[in-house]
Amino acid sequence: MPVYEFICNKCDHSFSHTLKISEYEKEKFSCPKCKSKKVKRRISSFQAITSKKS
Ligand SMILES: [Zn+2]
Repeated sequence: MPVYEFICNKCDHSFSHTLKISEYEKEKFSCPKCKSKKVKRRISSFQAITSKKS
């Protein structure tokens, strides 16, 4: 699943969600810090690098 990164336009707090496209489409995300809905998103691909193998 893709990791969606968000950055709050208001307080500049960055956070991320890992979720399906369909979940993303129907969800409205807000900043967990200041609750602002004005967040901008970007798709990150670092997930593959940090995946753990035992
Ligand atoms: Zn914020």
